[in-house]
Amino acid sequence: MARGLQKQQARANAEKRAAANAPPKSQLKAMVAGNQFKCPKCMLMIANYKLVVQHMEAKHPKEPVPTEESFSVAK
Ligand SMILES: [Zn+2]
Repeated sequence: MARGLQKQQARANAEKRAAANAPPKSQLKAMVAGNQFKCPKCMLMIANYKLVVQHMEAKHPKEPVPTEESFSVAK
């Protein structure tokens, strides 16, 4: 009885460990989804449009800031 329970616990622990160690695919997905903006000048991936505007003003002040729509089309 006790041995069986131990085995079950060990398996549960191993699964927990595996989940903690393995990079979950959902994280990668979230990363991709969170970086759908790309600087047209330096191809930097940017999480949101506000940061795109900030990036353009800081890094490429001579370039026109692209509209948010132009990103959603290009993905
Ligand atoms: Zn840039």
